[in-house]
Amino acid sequence: MNIPEEIRSLEAQLIIWRRDFHRQPELGLEEKRTAQIAAQTLRTLGYEVHEGIARTGVVGLLRNGDGPTIMVRADMDALPIQEENSVDYASQRPGMMHACGHDGHVAILLGIATAMAQHRERWQGTLMLVFQPGEEGLNGAEIMIREGVLERFKPDRALALHLWNDRPVGIVDATPGPVMAAAETWEATITGKGGHAAQPAETVDPVIAAAMTVLALQTIVSRNVPATDAAVVTVGMIHAGEAFNVIPDQAQLRGTVRTYKPQVRETVLRRLDEVIQGTAKMLGASVTLRQYPLTPALVNDAETAQSVQQCIVTVLGEKGLSTGLQVMGSEDFAFFLQQVPGCFFFVGSGKPGAPLLQHHNPHFDIDERALTIGAAVMFEALQQLLPRHGV
Ligand SMILES: [Zn+2]
Ligand SMILES: [Zn+2]
Repeated sequence: MNIPEEIRSLEAQLIIWRRDFHRQPELGLEEKRTAQIAAQTLRTLGYEVHEGIARTGVVGLLRNGDGPTIMVRADMDALPIQEENSVDYASQRPGMMHACGHDGHVAILLGIATAMAQHRERWQGTLMLVFQPGEEGLNGAEIMIREGVLERFKPDRALALHLWNDRPVGIVDATPGPVMAAAETWEATITGKGGHAAQPAETVDPVIAAAMTVLALQTIVSRNVPATDAAVVTVGMIHAGEAFNVIPDQAQLRGTVRTYKPQVRETVLRRLDEVIQGTAKMLGASVTLRQYPLTPALVNDAETAQSVQQCIVTVLGEKGLSTGLQVMGSEDFAFFLQQVPGCFFFVGSGKPGAPLLQHHNPHFDIDERALTIGAAVMFEALQQLLPRHGV
């Protein structure tokens, strides 16, 4: 392993920061303490600090001569989960836990803030550090963009990382193109005609319509999406009726769609509408369908991803580089990458040889060596994307 000295010297501090945030988790858009620590640290290091963007978001700018503006983002929010680990840095706030690794993301970004400020002689340009609130389903990134962060600070490229327990520590994945899925939710209300369970011929049964709809929806991925493309259609909620001897008036379905390519997304959403409407019509029921987009697909810029790949090899050697990881989960950094070319990469944080501790699980924890590795790859990436001082 080849950790640059600028980061190696911060190893202990990265762990101290991460454990402090881990003990004091805060939910999305309420990250007041975390944001305050970030802003205070940035100020001490000489950054120009902008607070209160999307409620608790913080932007730190370090202007260091002519050159491009490179943005690096960390998400700050924890999850409404009761921690079940008994480590001495376990959450001290009941019902809240950093179970996705965002505590580590904030620690790494503070490490980057420190290393870049201490070594201004090495680079020139502008560094834009974004501490973002509300990543977990609240689209904090979209709110920050709506409040003008991209127009105000005009980054030329954007970088972010995610600690990733599905890969062991020592492996980092940077992949060009789409790496996390576009997500939508949908809900359908099927209306029939209720009546006595013993006289179904007098009714239009929405339970049958709902059941047939769930099965018919399974043909979208299997028969409308090319076999080489990824898509998911899930019905996560189904509700109808209150009594065994009554055919109800209505049935409700709710679910989610995940896709990568815009044309696949379009096909799936069109077929979802046709299948749900068509099934109801066939059975004499009516239906209202609502579709809500959540997050677009996260698409990495090929050139930036290649730069990050080179940095992974610099830090970890060829053995540490992984490519091709694609996840059907969603991530709101996608909103930034819709407007600014950049790269979102995955830093393996699983403990080698130990059982997988899944993200969003009350037993989630990381191998803390991933903090130094993540910071090292990010630091190297910034050295690549920013011109050397005096050049
Ligand atoms: Zn998460
Ligand atoms: Zn996350």
